[in-house]
Amino acid sequence: MFLIRCPWCGERAETEFSYGGEGEISRPLDPDALNDAEWADYLFLRSNPRGAHKELWNHSQGCRRWFGVNRDTVSYKIDSTYPLHASEEDGQ
Ligand SMILES: [Zn+2]
Repeated sequence: MFLIRCPWCGERAETEFSYGGEGEISRPLDPDALNDAEWADYLFLRSNPRGAHKELWNHSQGCRRWFGVNRDTVSYKIDSTYPLHASEEDGQ
């Protein structure tokens, strides 16, 4: 069984989690300044690396919080998980 460590609940079975896509994608500060190609890039284009990858996961069957995961896409090994905002690091 594949285990994922929720920053608040600890290690749980992967069946409790939902994948949310690539992590750390920043919304453009001024979306109106983007042309169609740049906007499409922000909305749809994602990296598909072989190796280290930053991802978003949701503990959908637990605390329902979103968090970041550093995972290797080849070995599936999770190097770390972390709250998305520094203010959440104490579990608040
Ligand atoms: Zn949780």
